[in-house]
This record gives sequence, C-alpha cells and structure tokens, in this order.
Amino acid sequence: MSAPGKMLGEILGHVFKKADTTLYPFEKPEMPANFRGRIKFIAEKCIGCKICMKVCPAYAIDIKTIGEKKYQCDIWLDRCIFCAQCVESCPKDALDNSSEYELAALDKKSLFTEQK
Ligand code: SF4
Ligand code: SF4
Repeated sequence: MSAPGKMLGEILGHVFKKADTTLYPFEKPEMPANFRGRIKFIAEKCIGCKICMKVCPAYAIDIKTIGEKKYQCDIWLDRCIFCAQCVESCPKDALDNSSEYELAALDKKSLFTEQK
C-alpha cells in the first residue's frame, strides 16, 4: 500500500476506535481494591499501641491519647509516602487505605489531618 493510503487507513481506524485517554477530572476513574489512598483511622478499633508510629518511615503519623481508651490519629499528608506500612502493621485493623487520591492542596496546613 502507498504511504498516503496507509496513513488514511490508520486515521480511519482511529476515528472509530475507543479512546485510550480518559476525561479526568470530569470522569473520575474507579480505583482498584488495593489502592493506597488517604489513610483512614477507625478510632473504635485503636488500642494505642503506637506500632504504626514506629514503622512509619516518614514520621507522618502520630497517635495521641485523648481520653480513657480513646485515641486520635494525626497524619501529615505532606510527609506520607502512602507505603501502607502503618496499615499492614496495625494489630487491630484500625488503619485502612481509602481510595481517596485527590489530595493536592495549595495550603500546607490543610495537609495535616486529625481523625478521632
Ligand atoms: S497500630 Fe493500630 S492500634 Fe496501634 S496505635 Fe496505631 S492505629 Fe492504634
Ligand atoms: S502510609 Fe506509610 S508514610 Fe504514610 S503514615 Fe502510613 S507508614 Fe507513614
């Protein structure tokens, strides 16, 4: 096939092909089940052992006692590298990966989160 004919074939082929790109941010992709997004704290399950703090390579998580057997989880998202070491190491499943991924912010203070 001549070069222009080949090119025309390619163009027509792409016109009827489903696009490989997505319309993000207008269409949000669904994250896979094991996606590591924003860390979620389930306060009722926490026993305050602080293993999560010890294993965090980025010093991004802090557990505070706020009452009798009540704990607060502080996370610095600007330090977190989403390695999920804290989630894997928690003996009570009190931490989980969420599918939340749109975490960019202009204000650094908003990247500090307290969960109780
Ligand atoms: S490892 Fe789990 S149970 Fe222990 S302090 Fe951290 S979140 Fe709480
Ligand atoms: S995901 Fe990794 S970096 Fe982020 S808080 Fe947990 S252990 Fe630390």
